[in-house]
Amino acid sequence: MTASHAPVEVNGIAYRWPLRPVVVVCIDGGDPRYLQRFLADGCIPNIARFISQGFAGIADGSMPSFTCPNNMSIITGTPTARHGISGNFYLDTATWQPVVMTGPELLRGDSIVTRFAQSGAKVVSITAKDKLRKQLSKGLDVAQGHVSFSSEFAERCTLAENGIDNTLQWLGMAQPGMYSMELSLFVLEAGIKLLQERRPDLLYLSLTDWVQHKWAPDEDGARTFYQRLDDCVGRLAALDATVALTADHGMSDKSNAAGEPNVIWLQDILDARFGQGQTTVICPITDAFVAHHGALGGFVRVWTRGAVTARQIIDHIGGLDGIELALDKATVCRMFEMPPDREGDVAVIAREDTCIGSSASNHDLSGLKGHRLRTHGGVSEAKVPFILNRPLNEAYKARAAGAPLKSYQIFDYAVNGTL
Ligand SMILES: [Zn+2]
Repeated sequence: MTASHAPVEVNGIAYRWPLRPVVVVCIDGGDPRYLQRFLADGCIPNIARFISQGFAGIADGSMPSFTCPNNMSIITGTPTARHGISGNFYLDTATWQPVVMTGPELLRGDSIVTRFAQSGAKVVSITAKDKLRKQLSKGLDVAQGHVSFSSEFAERCTLAENGIDNTLQWLGMAQPGMYSMELSLFVLEAGIKLLQERRPDLLYLSLTDWVQHKWAPDEDGARTFYQRLDDCVGRLAALDATVALTADHGMSDKSNAAGEPNVIWLQDILDARFGQGQTTVICPITDAFVAHHGALGGFVRVWTRGAVTARQIIDHIGGLDGIELALDKATVCRMFEMPPDREGDVAVIAREDTCIGSSASNHDLSGLKGHRLRTHGGVSEAKVPFILNRPLNEAYKARAAGAPLKSYQIFDYAVNGTL
């Protein structure tokens, strides 16, 4: 540990110098229903101990309840409106082309981890999916002894780019597959080993939701994963670290009794009513990992070319079965703290049991064969766990009792709020 320093201010919040290493784990897709189930079964004893001896609540995640917006909320300590990453894609209305939102230049504000590094702390940021890596480590100079890599590309790590190399040999694990629980477990095992060997001050470990997309809380695959997760977080805590657990979003079953996904093909509906080319539906969940959800989520955006108004779109689709909310830009940004310059003309949010796609012909659902569709993006998947292995101090106890918890406060609580 580095000697005591002055507090570090990041995006308007002062973070004290950590008394012991702080590890924040983002359990991607970690819907509270998984923990409820496995706590009831008694098979996650370490997390059970955190809850009884530390602090636990259910927090509001950021909207839309997708991976990128919520990881950026957690790492900056701010809502989506402030950091600007409101999905994987937005539509550039100058070119009418979708723009991928994973570039660090699109992230507004600073990463807590990076600001600590710049203040003299040693930091580690590991993510399962490489798409998150550059934004998570925006501004981080790994030449100063920090580590930043993804398990997706663990075998490609270099000292110059990642602050670590020969990662597979060092950890003694094979390169995990893109669709495997090992992709997440690799992140946790690497975090444990770095904590043992280098004792950094701050670690951010972000997993992947392949398990939760694939298995419901009552399925064996999910239980196996959570038991292994529990073992890992227990070992982190045993290294005298403050361990904080949250999630980027939850996960809901969106299939019917026959096992087929309940999909609203929104672009097809809008084209039939208003004509082709008048509106563009963007599914901001779309990324390279689509086999397990077919790019179907609970939140989409509609842009209009101008001949059709937002009001007409809302009037046409707002009453459709399965749509929970259809809102104009100003309303959705106000309700869910989202940035207007990256919002569509209409935001459409699905009910818990339904998802929304663009055109049926644009989604490849072959990867879902034999599985029920489980996915996220809406309000129904925006509740996440918020767990600390250490008790809160009096000030943060009062704060937690007085206002709804937000998942983007997890670093604040872990660093400033624990005894
Ligand atoms: Zn996610």
